[in-house]
Amino acid sequence: MALVRVINFALAFKVIYLRVSALENGTVPMEFYIMTQQNTGRTRFGPSGNSKSFYDSGLKSTEQSAAYTKEFGLDIFEYSFGRGVNMSDEKAVSIGSAFAALGLELSVHAPYYINFANPDPQSFENSVGYIVRSLKKLQLMGGKRCVFHPGSQGKAERAQAADLTKDNIARMAERLDGFGLTDVMLCAETMGKLGQIGTVAEVCDFCSVDSRIYPCVDFGHINAREQGILKAQKDYYDVINYMFDHMEPHKVRNMHIHFSMIEYGTKGEIRHLDFEDRAFGPPFEPLMEVLHDLNITAYLICESAQRQIEDAAAMKNYYTALGGV
Ligand SMILES: [Zn+2]
Repeated sequence: MALVRVINFALAFKVIYLRVSALENGTVPMEFYIMTQQNTGRTRFGPSGNSKSFYDSGLKSTEQSAAYTKEFGLDIFEYSFGRGVNMSDEKAVSIGSAFAALGLELSVHAPYYINFANPDPQSFENSVGYIVRSLKKLQLMGGKRCVFHPGSQGKAERAQAADLTKDNIARMAERLDGFGLTDVMLCAETMGKLGQIGTVAEVCDFCSVDSRIYPCVDFGHINAREQGILKAQKDYYDVINYMFDHMEPHKVRNMHIHFSMIEYGTKGEIRHLDFEDRAFGPPFEPLMEVLHDLNITAYLICESAQRQIEDAAAMKNYYTALGGV
C-alpha cells in the first residue's frame, strides 16, 4: 500500500511537471498521454459534476471533488463547460493534478451553445471555437474525452439538418490538427428531444467522418426521445448491435456513456431524475448486464439530477457484482 502511495505521488509530481512544461511551450508531450492512458481496458464509472451531498458536506472546489469521487470508489469525473469555457489554464492544471494524484481521469462537456446544424458561417466558427477551447483545457486537465451536443434541427428538414451537421463536424475535425489537437476523443451525444440532432443513427453517421469522433450514448436520452423503449436487456442489445453494424467496432468498445433516469413527454426529454424515482426509466441493471456480457470498456458518466455520485456508485457496484472490473 505504501509503495502504491509513493508511486502515485511520483506520478502526480511528474504529471504536474509535464503540464507546466506543456503550459510553457503550448504543446502536450506524448509521454503525458501514455501516462494518462495507463488504465485503459476496463469499464469506468463516475459522476457528471458535483452531487448535492458534496455541497451539503461543505465542500466547494473541483479539486476537492477528486477525493470525494475516490471515496465512492469511482474512477472518472466529468467537468461541464456547458455554460462556457471560463477557466484559467492554471486552474485546469490544478484540477487535473488533484485527480491524477488519486489515479482518476477527467472528461469535459463542451458548451451547450454548439450547433453544427446552423447554416450561418459565423455560428460554425463559434461552435469550432467552443470545441477548441474545451479541448485545450481538457488537455491541461490530463483528459482525452470531450462530449458535445451536435445541434438543433431548427426549421430545416430533418435529413437536411443532419447532413449539414455531419459536414460541419467533418470541417471542424479538419481544423483540429492546426491546433495540435490530434490525440483527443470528441464524443457526439445522442439527444433526448425530438428537435435536437442526435439519434443513434445520426451519431453513428457522424462517427464516420473522422477518427477522433466517438459516440456518447445517452441511454436516458434515447429512452426519453423514443417514449420509453429501453426496458430489458434485449432493448439495450438492439441499440448496441445497431452501433456495431454502423460504426467501427473499436469506437463501440470504447464508447462514452451518459446515464440517468429522465422524465419525458411527447416531445422527449423533460428533466433528469435520481435513481430513487424510476417511474420513467430506463433501468440501469440490464445495461450493466449487457456491457458486461459484451465486454465493452465504456466510460460511464451518471447524470442524475442531484445524486450523480451515489447513483454512479450504484451502477459500479452492480457491474462489479457481475464479475466486471
Ligand atoms: Zn450532454
